[in-house]
Amino acid sequence: MSKSEDIVARLRKLEGGGLRTFAEDPPMVWEKAEGCHVWDADGKRYLDLYGGFAVAAIGYGHPKVVAAIQAQAATLMHCPSAHPSRIRSEFYEALASIAPSGLERFLPAVTGAMANEMAILLARAHRPKGAIVSFAGSYFGRSIGTVGFAGKVKYREALGIPAGGPFVPFPYPLRQGAAATDLTMQALEDLARKEPQPLAAVMLEPIQGNGGVVIPPADFLPRLRQFCDREGALLILDEIQSGCGRTGRLWAVEHSGVTPDLMTVGKGIGGGVAAAAVMGRPDAMNWKPDSYTSTFLTNNLNLAAAIAAIGVLREEQLAGRAAAIGPAGLARMKSVLSGIEGVREVRGLGLWYAAELADAAWAGRALKLARERGVIVGRSGYEDNVIKLSPALVIPEADLHAGIDIAAGAIRDSEGAAA
Ligand code: PLP
Repeated sequence: MSKSEDIVARLRKLEGGGLRTFAEDPPMVWEKAEGCHVWDADGKRYLDLYGGFAVAAIGYGHPKVVAAIQAQAATLMHCPSAHPSRIRSEFYEALASIAPSGLERFLPAVTGAMANEMAILLARAHRPKGAIVSFAGSYFGRSIGTVGFAGKVKYREALGIPAGGPFVPFPYPLRQGAAATDLTMQALEDLARKEPQPLAAVMLEPIQGNGGVVIPPADFLPRLRQFCDREGALLILDEIQSGCGRTGRLWAVEHSGVTPDLMTVGKGIGGGVAAAAVMGRPDAMNWKPDSYTSTFLTNNLNLAAAIAAIGVLREEQLAGRAAAIGPAGLARMKSVLSGIEGVREVRGLGLWYAAELADAAWAGRALKLARERGVIVGRSGYEDNVIKLSPALVIPEADLHAGIDIAAGAIRDSEGAAA
């Protein structure tokens, strides 16, 4: 039995059901990671083009993050959230240094779902009786407070949670063509007329991640901002996956010139440690004192890591790097996949790429074949039919191109192959 097989067997014996641990067959057992590479328990090295689900924006194990955690561990690991600490003020200052202008207040969180729940609660405080609108294909997490807003019905059904509010179509140019924005805006107008109470909020990812890197037309966010202003509804953007430089700007919303009322961030800002936050306009964050808390809310080790990671994002100008090297990678992926029937679209922005395939089974085979060839890719999409890449923004160009050749080659070579 290999070391990986042994670990999988031990996990199978004890882990409760329902997690994604065994979604891949065989599961890949992670042992260590550094930069853009991950090693499994049997010592095989992989180029990770998925960045650990878009977490490794600055790469795995960045020395500045490691040093910050070590120093903080020796000083103060736990500070109850009810007490102020220097590190929390430095975290807010770090967030302020990268926040879109207009977002000047911050609330800390551990996971993306937790940050989104806080944003949802703030929307409830804004208009207790109003609906919170979300979109087909949306993903905000799997907690009880967020999964109701998941655009994929299967996520809600798996946990027995009803829809948290009404849904409208997300503008999806491949599927809806030039009318994509009009279709969504019309659906919102119809909804606003139909709802018994004024809308509380509209909540969305500016580019859908779990949906499969769905990039709406440029006029969408400005028109949505106008709609929210007219309706008095909060515009809540979830930049947990699209942020931290991924699209070539620090935040995807910056491509549009729009300022949301609330914005949630997570994944990459922790530098590999669980850290998240809500950013907001001051008037959208006006809870009374002691409305919300948890023992931790966050943790000083995580905050120290996040402060260091945000520093790296800025100092190494990683958003600019994604903008600079991203397009060549996309062009390469398009070229390897051109002319393959069933590749519906290859799209992307910055260092975020997607190949939408004819069906989910093909995406599953491609993911497996890429892994056999030493490259980790992700899978998402409305029908799980999209191969998604979100590599570390520090990835050397040679690795990026070699990895894309393998990932796209795996898509090509698994077309129509038996599972
Ligand atoms: N929002 C988006 C856009 C995400 O992609 C994710 C996770 O993939 C979440 C929220 C949930 O974050 P977490 O898994 O940290 O709870």
